[in-house]
Amino acid sequence: MPAPSPESTSGRLPLHDPIAAPLPGATTEVKTTTCYMCACRCGIRVHLRDGEVRYIEGNPDHPLNKGVICAKGSSGIMKQYAPARLTMPLRRKPGTERGAGQFEPIGWEETFTLLTERLGRLRATDPKKFALFTGRDQMQALTGLFARQFGTPNYAAHGGFCSVNMAAGMIYTIGGSFWEFGGPDLDRARLFVMIGTAEDHHSNPLKNAIGKFKNAGGRLIAINPVRSGYAAVADEWVPIQPGTDGALLLALIREIIELGLYDRDFLVRCTNAGQLVNQDEAHDEFGLMMRNAEGDVVNPLRPANFFWWDRLTGRPVADHAEGADPALLGQFTMPDGTPVKPAFQLLEERVRDCTPEWAAGITGIPAETIRRLAHEMGVTARDHTIELPIAWTDCWGQEHQSVTGKPVAFHAMRGLAAHSNGFQTIRALAILMSLLGTIDRPGGFRHRAPYPRAVPPNARPPRSPASVKPNTPLDAPPLGWPETPADLFVDDAGEPVRIDKGFSWEHPLSAHGLMHNVITNAWRGDPYPIDTLFLFMANMAWNSSMNTSEVRRMLVDKHQGGDQDGNYKIPFIVVCDAFRSETTEFADLILPDTSYLERHDVMSMLDRPISEFEGPVDAVRVPILPPLGQCKPFQEVLVELGSRLKLPAFTRPEGGRKYKDYPDFIVRYETAPGSGIGFLTGWRGAEGNKAMRGEPNPKQWEAYAANNCVHAVHLPPALQYMRNWNRDYMAWAQQMGVRRDNDPIVIHLYSEFLQRFRLAAEGKAGGGLRRPPERLRERIRTFMDPLPFWYEPLESQQADRAAYPLNALTQRPMAMYHAWDSQNAWLRQIHAHNELHVNTRTALAAGINDGAWMWVESRWGKVRCICRHSEAVEPGTVWTWNAIGKARGAWALSEDANESQKGFLLNHLISEELAPEADGKRFSNSDPVTGQAAWYDVRVRIRPAGTDEAGETFPQFAPMQAVPGMAAAPTKWRAWFAGRMGLGGDSARKGGQA
Ligand code: SF4
Repeated sequence: MPAPSPESTSGRLPLHDPIAAPLPGATTEVKTTTCYMCACRCGIRVHLRDGEVRYIEGNPDHPLNKGVICAKGSSGIMKQYAPARLTMPLRRKPGTERGAGQFEPIGWEETFTLLTERLGRLRATDPKKFALFTGRDQMQALTGLFARQFGTPNYAAHGGFCSVNMAAGMIYTIGGSFWEFGGPDLDRARLFVMIGTAEDHHSNPLKNAIGKFKNAGGRLIAINPVRSGYAAVADEWVPIQPGTDGALLLALIREIIELGLYDRDFLVRCTNAGQLVNQDEAHDEFGLMMRNAEGDVVNPLRPANFFWWDRLTGRPVADHAEGADPALLGQFTMPDGTPVKPAFQLLEERVRDCTPEWAAGITGIPAETIRRLAHEMGVTARDHTIELPIAWTDCWGQEHQSVTGKPVAFHAMRGLAAHSNGFQTIRALAILMSLLGTIDRPGGFRHRAPYPRAVPPNARPPRSPASVKPNTPLDAPPLGWPETPADLFVDDAGEPVRIDKGFSWEHPLSAHGLMHNVITNAWRGDPYPIDTLFLFMANMAWNSSMNTSEVRRMLVDKHQGGDQDGNYKIPFIVVCDAFRSETTEFADLILPDTSYLERHDVMSMLDRPISEFEGPVDAVRVPILPPLGQCKPFQEVLVELGSRLKLPAFTRPEGGRKYKDYPDFIVRYETAPGSGIGFLTGWRGAEGNKAMRGEPNPKQWEAYAANNCVHAVHLPPALQYMRNWNRDYMAWAQQMGVRRDNDPIVIHLYSEFLQRFRLAAEGKAGGGLRRPPERLRERIRTFMDPLPFWYEPLESQQADRAAYPLNALTQRPMAMYHAWDSQNAWLRQIHAHNELHVNTRTALAAGINDGAWMWVESRWGKVRCICRHSEAVEPGTVWTWNAIGKARGAWALSEDANESQKGFLLNHLISEELAPEADGKRFSNSDPVTGQAAWYDVRVRIRPAGTDEAGETFPQFAPMQAVPGMAAAPTKWRAWFAGRMGLGGDSARKGGQA
């Protein structure tokens, strides 16, 4: 028996003693589910006593985290019992102003009646007046389906303001991307380079992998303006100025080519390096690949009928012709006289002047360091080839006796992505990885199912305003991957159809939408006004918006002469959230979501599963507890609304509702009648004995619950590598519905998809029939470059660099996930306020002492905050933690909480739009290719605050008050544990579902 704890001997309950015997008479249970304290989706075990959560631990039987849990995961208990929980549907009190925080309860039935009437009217008249935008949720397959069925194109999730550059830059190049869809194989890598990575994505698994990697002698290099998180354990920190990574990557590519350290065999077989590109500038197809009418047409939708220039015969041949040896360098003339060059030659020409000295002047990294890094990457790849005795066959029929690999791995995230030059930067990274021969090979980057997918994937957005019709689903999913200008979602004048201007000539490849512009565009009525804005789990009145103060003003702005209740520029705002966030203040209707411990959820192959390199893995959440008060999972709300609105996918042919509830929907939904493909891959079929494909199984949830809430498919080793070009993997993937086609996914060093947009801007037939509006032609020509290039971020081009000499950044801390944890009593002890980290020399030169109050100013606004001197940031950068600062009273924090008094939000300094063009129009402050929000482009200056100004951050806002159903604000510090104190006796919060 363990010695009694001091608490026990004093007669008080121990907070937690994992090996103590259960209390006499107490009912204890342990249930498994999936964590949602961040987006990494680790398996957890939740310990309950008398139905109350007492302890959360990592699930050792879960394939993702193998028992590891982080501070956030174990603090889920404090999220569950947070006083900031919303517990009942609320509406803005009639006669009160939006934003005044005056709400009254409204039952669910009345809520659904109100929404069904309002949304039904919009659907019957103009469905695009309904806009549904969601935050970092994990149910985009459902929300996207709902929007499509409703018939509105105005739908997106958080990707546009997160990392769409990472997704698009990689997927348009190699057919896969980092994090959920791929990552570094650290079990076999020797060199691991992390660029622009904070300490969050794929958190626990990556930390585990880095630990093993370093113990095995691997070398970790961190290239980042800030040395924190993963960079803190790196063997070498290479400080870099923000927004310049593209210049570094181009110089590395140049050096690898110059030194001859590229993997020629890989480039020939697996990329378009050898494909011949039309170089006749007068030709309508200038810059496109030459087509071979008699070549190999594997997939009629994407014929693989290109040309190589055969070095052995000195003539053009079909690409991958047996026995041919394609030239990668040189210029040639086709029999019809057309001048051509291999794609690799064009890449070589592109980077020829990108010398280490050139990059040094941009990045701040010494030229000799850049040369050394390139040499180390190239030599490690060349001299340490990995060979696994796994026989496999490629898509062209060649048999291989082994799988080979190169032990150089990379990882990158928002640090590269969140710039207006991020797409081309990430293209450069993917090309560097490809030159080194590290794609889906041991020791390098490896895909996770359902990737790799076609370049680009097959889903296309709607193409014209005619796609939006009353009472009719959209004819295509609202989000997709344009391949040519014909795939843009524009009207006859070339103007956008979506409220966020996604898939328009302004941002052609905006695969995740531009949520950061929705409120501004809707407020301005550009391209048109909307009626109802429905936000789920997105804190758009605070940390998820740029230009936060102005956005908050837009949310309450009325038309001139408007009356009190009906004439807001955004007429009706619905917010669904589990907590009293800043955004709930601006709602006309608040829907209380459940916590992650109170609902069913799927991490699905139709969305973002938790696949491993070895095969597809999906997971679920199952309710551990009943919903608090009248909370209802958002998924249930959508299924209910879909049924009441009689959206076809939710309605039987005879008109009745198709699904009882969300769990029923998940089990019975199929992508097409009888397809056998649904949300979950495990325990399918009437007997529950099929994987990936099979009839719906009514017992599927139970099977997942009994199996740690996870289902894994382990592919045979021959199907685990080289999946872009692996014949047997392709056959399996097509059979299982993971891919539509089974053609090879060739890496696009040179992107003729981008070139087609340029041709359209130049009025050439190769671009198709559509032309960008005159004012956008130069923009398209400049940025839709088929080869990567570096340009100064757009915001930075406009700013006066002398007046604003510093870059300002945010990072997500390891202990808090965006705004999600401000209500969490345990995690607040780690981060209750944020400071601005400034290099000591930079701060002292500006006359600002460590710990002193200071001003930070951009050309858009200013904030007052506390300065923290640091040696772990390069001198031209200042940075702070993201989303720690709060509005006063938000998240049920007291009005004098550190979060609002000492914490601050950098977003006030960042504009959602660039300065007006000559015609008065303003572009989004985003990547011109993808619409990725350019969070990290802002330029600032710093100065000390006056002694009379210290004591409180700026700006401040009127305090938020509690709303009906919230727990009373604690009078003392929050000593309660697991709901024992602070929540008891509050009947409103304990009431059942209405
Ligand atoms: S890394 Fe994320 S999902 Fe995993 S335990 Fe921590 S908070 Fe939960």
